[in-house]
Amino acid sequence: MRYSKEHAIKISSELFPDELCEKCGKCCIIHSYKTENGLEVIYCEHFDKETKLCKVYKDRFKYNCLTVIEGILARVFPKECPYVRNIKNYEEPHFYKYLREK
Ligand code: SF4
Ligand code: SF4
Repeated sequence: MRYSKEHAIKISSELFPDELCEKCGKCCIIHSYKTENGLEVIYCEHFDKETKLCKVYKDRFKYNCLTVIEGILARVFPKECPYVRNIKNYEEPHFYKYLREK
């Protein structure tokens, strides 16, 4: 069976409503790593660091953004995110622990 992004968007929005998001902006971090000068945090180019919101939210899937269901499988969310905090076997990317130590 062929994978359909449109179908993923429909199913994901039904299972994971937008209202659950606490707008922390953490899942828009592409990567984070330690350097000699501290922690380097790389955000998605569409992320507005002032508002902590996506600048292209309504059109984000045109820019290859993941649905929540895809984001869970790709492990992009921090473990405290409402979309994953009750998923026992969810594993977050390791860089979130550096952000908490900051
Ligand atoms: S990590 Fe979770 S709560 Fe934070 S912005 Fe992303 S979806 Fe929303
Ligand atoms: S497109 Fe928007 S929602 Fe998706 S990762 Fe980038 S800033 Fe975040």
